[in-house]
Amino acid sequence: MNKKVKFQTPTGMHDILPEDQFLYEKIWALVDDVAKFYGFGKIMTPIVEDAALYERGTGGTTDIVEKQMYTLKTKGDDVLALRPEFTPGIVRSYIQHGMIALPQPIKLYTYGPLFRYEHPQAGRFRQFHQVDFEVFGEQSAALDAQIIQIFYIILKELKFSHLIIEVNSIGDNQCRPYYKKMLSNYLRPRQTSLCADCRRRFRENPLRTLDCKEEKCQRIRSQAPQFIDHLCEECKNHFKALLEFLDETDLPYHLDPYLVRGLDYYTKTVFEIFSEKTMEQTKEKGEVLQRNALVGGGRYDGLVRLLGGKDVPASGAAAGVERIVGLLREMQLVPKSEPTAEIFLAQLGDLSKKKSLKLLEDFRKAKIQVAESLGRDSLRTQLARADKLKVAYTLILGQKEVLDGTIVIRKMDTGEQDTVKLANVVEEVKKRIKK
Ligand code: AMP
Repeated sequence: MNKKVKFQTPTGMHDILPEDQFLYEKIWALVDDVAKFYGFGKIMTPIVEDAALYERGTGGTTDIVEKQMYTLKTKGDDVLALRPEFTPGIVRSYIQHGMIALPQPIKLYTYGPLFRYEHPQAGRFRQFHQVDFEVFGEQSAALDAQIIQIFYIILKELKFSHLIIEVNSIGDNQCRPYYKKMLSNYLRPRQTSLCADCRRRFRENPLRTLDCKEEKCQRIRSQAPQFIDHLCEECKNHFKALLEFLDETDLPYHLDPYLVRGLDYYTKTVFEIFSEKTMEQTKEKGEVLQRNALVGGGRYDGLVRLLGGKDVPASGAAAGVERIVGLLREMQLVPKSEPTAEIFLAQLGDLSKKKSLKLLEDFRKAKIQVAESLGRDSLRTQLARADKLKVAYTLILGQKEVLDGTIVIRKMDTGEQDTVKLANVVEEVKKRIKK
């Protein structure tokens, strides 16, 4: 009887409390700003889509679809999935709304929550946020470079200093089958030395083994044939052009010949952006570099067609917002929290409480931040709070002032007090705080 129930957030999910909102809001505002400058239009797609959209788009043999997708059956027997990534939903929308008929390129961006049934650990959640940029209708590597540049700019604006961009090309339908065959031939005699997951990946899609983080698989990978040595002429030229664009923009990039990314739809360019920091380790080990993946993306020239549209080249990427927020905090790059109040409004008695509600709204309209303790009655408590908030002025609205139609403005550092007309108080405050 009466057993206490204790509800918690589901595993791997978290609340974003008021004190953390400003960080997210800062990121959204910055992203909106950069997107606007570079001509990207904001799009919002549903949090759930037809599960088949991801099975087909993201790929049935990817970890995301195979292991991490939250699927649900509705009362009407539709099989939907909580979106594990943005791209397929945005491609669906591009096709559904006939955006191909508009002048290309179509540049879209979005941000919001995604869901993946992962093993929760530091920086890895089951509900997390991404910022996502996509460009449709352009073949040119210039657009791939621009997407990379945009994410780099966003991270730089947030004051990240040690960023590194890893790029690679994974070819297209012309050259990839050949590379896959070469990789299979290399892996076949080494199969038994791979981890259990990679033995399965080898059968389903040998490229996936290149993604594995297990040490023994990485050792095998280090001798594997490299994509860039086996690209067709078109992909080779595209990759060369990308590197030239990156050189031109002075972005710090490396070529990672084994970067494939875990999704099926990529063609040609793939890339990731990492934040690097050195961890002071024991003397024997010296300094160890810790890398955090913040952004991942690439070109996906076949996806629009695969999802029922025409042959439209496209490119895009996404950044993990929780990772960014976590690192900002860790590196103490957290910007100043919410705007602090300049004014405190103290009230005494019921009548002045009532007047205070309207007065606060007058200050909001004038864009002057006012703090208050409407629930408190004692002037001493209210002034103590004003002191704590370090406001420059406190307004005191007592019974007498309400009846006279006046209000007291107290300068907190000197204790000087003026009485002014209640109707003019916003103007009087403006004069004092020089707004
Ligand atoms: P992806 O969509 O897997 O290419 O990931 C792009 C970025 O999203 C990564 O570099 C991470 O910063 C972030 N990310 C991916 N999965 C998670 C997760 N489960 N929890 C938090 N952030 C994630």
